[in-house]
Amino acid sequence: MWRDLDPIGRSASSGGYFRQPFGSAERECHAWFLEQCAARGLEVESDGNGNTIGWWRTGEGQGVLTGSHLDSVLDGGAYDGPLGVVSSFAAIDLLRDRGFVPQRPLGVGAFVEEEGSRFGLACLGSRLMTGAISPAAAQELRDRDGVPLPDAMAASGLDPSLGPGRLLEGVGVFVELHVEQGRDLVDRGAAIGVASEIWPHGRYRFDFTGEANHAGTTRMEDRHDPMLTYAMTAMAANEQARASGERATFGRIEAVPNGTNAVPSRVTAWLDARCATDDSLEKLVTEIGRMGHDRAGRDGTGLSVTAESVSARVGFDPDLAGRLADGHDGGAWPIIPTQAGHDAGILSAAGIPTAMLFVRNPTGVSHSPAEAAETADCLAGVEALATSLERLAGEGATE
Ligand SMILES: [Zn+2]
Repeated sequence: MWRDLDPIGRSASSGGYFRQPFGSAERECHAWFLEQCAARGLEVESDGNGNTIGWWRTGEGQGVLTGSHLDSVLDGGAYDGPLGVVSSFAAIDLLRDRGFVPQRPLGVGAFVEEEGSRFGLACLGSRLMTGAISPAAAQELRDRDGVPLPDAMAASGLDPSLGPGRLLEGVGVFVELHVEQGRDLVDRGAAIGVASEIWPHGRYRFDFTGEANHAGTTRMEDRHDPMLTYAMTAMAANEQARASGERATFGRIEAVPNGTNAVPSRVTAWLDARCATDDSLEKLVTEIGRMGHDRAGRDGTGLSVTAESVSARVGFDPDLAGRLADGHDGGAWPIIPTQAGHDAGILSAAGIPTAMLFVRNPTGVSHSPAEAAETADCLAGVEALATSLERLAGEGATE
């Protein structure tokens, strides 16, 4: 399975992946997903948002769902998303090899636009299917070329019908396996971990305005340069986050007119901020905004800050986490927080008991071609997922 996916959407120059939702590479991954379902006799169900689940129709009652996503960030790694999907199919193969008979249906899901790399809103597919975003708001989303979400879906051959459908009906519990996106498991010397919570996080647009002018003839003291205000704000954000053990990143900017020999008239920059509590996130962003406004006052520029999306803290079901983490030969798996958002967080917030398994990432790097996982750890992940599904769908499993 890994060999099938390896070349799809891979950049020859960077080795990173470009699998933006409803683009050709991501659709190819989706077609592969359908083939894998067909090869295992899984019954495929889709919704009008582009999400898909393949069901092993067996047993009765509320189903156990696993899976992850197949899209990537721009120039992303191989594992973020696909590792969870591939491991889900492999875990089903392992369970069948063992002769395991599930007492309830088992599903493998693929959620669409998890990264928000095309339409700017992370976990778009799971937000739509749970009603965390309204269809009307999603209809207005556009990609960088101005293409609205429904048009992009239609262009890829889908028939969009945005909003909660019936796809999650019958899902009693969700387990998502994911490559770890930091170094916690490396530091603990553990191949597998279980998630305790997702930090609150948000995306904020900073619009800096100034005065376009000539880069040569305008004296430094006569400028109203929004790039300078932006740069000082980015430095202040870094300092603030460092001081409090939090995260603040300006990872995307647009300058107008974006000319080498021009003082820009406008700079738009997007802040990604993440903190341990909802309060501390609000404080951090307010403080960065305050420092930006201070600087704008001195530069003679303007600044407005708009929250584009804010996700509150998600605490995963502690009983479920304990039930999956305990009782393994090598001892209990560590239960750790994550600073990354996931579809699992959206489903958990929607009231579905949810757990996440992490597979150690030796580089600790993610959202980059340097993202990594050892084969032995990936196989341990498949074992861990299969064991978890056994506990959730086996004899004596409770709701
Ligand atoms: Zn992911």
